[in-house]
Amino acid sequence: MPTQIAQCMTRKVSFIFYCAPRDDQHLNPMYHAMYSNDDTRTGVTDSAPYLTGMPYVLVDADTHAVIYPYNSTNGRTATFPNKEQMNPNALQDGLRFMHSLPPVNIPDHVTRIALHIANDAYLSHRNFQLFAWTVPDAAHSKVHVYEVRSDLQRRFAERNQLDTPPAENTLAVKPGTADEYHGYLNGDVWLSISHEFTDDEITRLCPPETLSRALLPGQHPVAPQGTAGNAIAPVPPAAAPGMQAVQLIQQTYAGPITGVPHPPLPVPQPHPPTPPQTAGNTQSLPVDWVAVLQPIYGAGAGSRSMAPFSVRVDALGITVTFTARAVANAVNTSSRTTVQQALRRTSPRAFAAVLKAAWRLHISSVDFSSSWRPMLGSRLHRMGVALDVTHFDDADENIHFTIHNHDHHDRNSPFPVDPGGQKLAALYRELRADQQTMPAAVYTPWLNWVIPHDTHMHVTVKE
Ligand SMILES: [Zn+2]
Repeated sequence: MPTQIAQCMTRKVSFIFYCAPRDDQHLNPMYHAMYSNDDTRTGVTDSAPYLTGMPYVLVDADTHAVIYPYNSTNGRTATFPNKEQMNPNALQDGLRFMHSLPPVNIPDHVTRIALHIANDAYLSHRNFQLFAWTVPDAAHSKVHVYEVRSDLQRRFAERNQLDTPPAENTLAVKPGTADEYHGYLNGDVWLSISHEFTDDEITRLCPPETLSRALLPGQHPVAPQGTAGNAIAPVPPAAAPGMQAVQLIQQTYAGPITGVPHPPLPVPQPHPPTPPQTAGNTQSLPVDWVAVLQPIYGAGAGSRSMAPFSVRVDALGITVTFTARAVANAVNTSSRTTVQQALRRTSPRAFAAVLKAAWRLHISSVDFSSSWRPMLGSRLHRMGVALDVTHFDDADENIHFTIHNHDHHDRNSPFPVDPGGQKLAALYRELRADQQTMPAAVYTPWLNWVIPHDTHMHVTVKE
């Protein structure tokens, strides 16, 4: 009989993610028990979260070397497998989707492992180790990750006999099991996971450029070219005359949000915007996106208000409004996420693409109903690469359009023929032609309709 060689046990680890259930429409008994009929605290609404296709890597928590995917050359990531539906009563709080990640062989020399998920899984980020944890000496350890609003975590643990919730971003033995562990993925953890875009990244993702657009018919007589360096008389973009301009300014705001629905005072503009230059029927405008987007990324510091708010993107002459509860998912699923932190997790490519298209079409205001959100619907909004547009105005042409189809016959049909519908059609064309977007993932209630996009245009940009 040959001599036996001492063998290390092969350790396998599997992660199972249980995505948060909806808490609107009485779908979550734990939410209902805590808040009764108070809808203002809902965060997970409209479409249940699922993580299909979301990137992740499993790493050696100490060396940061990637353990899975096994071939991780060139920063390759694994992706979450398709969602599976769970029994609605399995976890006592409503219908959940789940994802079972494949078991991973842990190399013998590895002591601790951690996950990087969502946009933090990309090689250039990887700032936040999720559930850094010493791998037990067991043949197969199973880790259950429960996505739960932070305020319902304790109730969830009680109702499911899970003892005291483990400390944030840690795992604990799952009571009553051998070789099973559990941890919580709440809104606070998502805040740490999701990438916050810095000014340097804005410059890298959206380099300075010169925008151009055609003048509206009859908007401006072609200015004769002056001599000896005389400037061409500039036309302010989408300038609204008289009272309209005053109204626009009164509802705009660039500072901290205090929770009042319409902050009363405009903030003085330190730098007057550069007007576009006109040549023939074309206007052009150099833009530095870091500066252009500053009013958006600068809004909402320290605020957890659900109230609507507007910011004036002066450089483009466009007012951007975030509708009521636009960041409700980010705020209500966490104990600390602020409005500004939610906005800062939305890719500059998304804001730039929509604003550029709007400027080119002389749109003077745009409403967004959602930006980054960690616990709602598909992976797109939680990756920070999506915006939902609900309304726009073109003051010069007196167009005011709310994006909402009238019934199911509108789905995948041509756009409405009225001026608003045609402006939306133009916006859709602009966005699908933009180098920053994912053209097939620009969804409207008309062409390219996908459930549940009946009330907004969803715009996806590149990651
Ligand atoms: Zn969307």
